[in-house]
Amino acid sequence: MNYKIERIVVGELKENCYVVTINDKTYLIDPGDEPEKIEKYLENKNVVAILITHHHFDHVGALKYFEKKYNLKHNTYTDDNFVIIKCPGHSQDSLTYYFKNLNCMFCGDFIFLNSIGRMDLPGGSSKDMKESLENIKNYDDEIILYPGHGISTFLGKEKRHFNYYF
Ligand SMILES: [Zn+2]
Repeated sequence: MNYKIERIVVGELKENCYVVTINDKTYLIDPGDEPEKIEKYLENKNVVAILITHHHFDHVGALKYFEKKYNLKHNTYTDDNFVIIKCPGHSQDSLTYYFKNLNCMFCGDFIFLNSIGRMDLPGGSSKDMKESLENIKNYDDEIILYPGHGISTFLGKEKRHFNYYF
């Protein structure tokens, strides 16, 4: 298996857009802003899916641009490379994309390095967040988390803090 994970920091809130390539397929995750910057990473790649972790403006700013360019609708494509885990709490529509063969998750604003997503925005819920964290605890400690802002971390490392947030 050939693969590559590229992180592109875009927009005022320094949102992480990810370009994940596995063999001949490329997945575009959270194109939040600056389409011309993201576009450079997509040259000569076969973009099969646009995946959005949640619909906050900093994660979807360039979404329409790429939907049009590739004639794709976001969050409609599925294949064996990833599974979708619902993780409401930061927002009602929060999703985590678990790429099992890459041993990593793209978790949007669900979990960050040494932190979790805020719950005080519209659609946020500490009750939901608690349940989502309980659920994600069932996954391996060695999984790498690629969050919507900031650098990556390990699920096992973050699990140790979960109880302190409530
Ligand atoms: Zn958000």
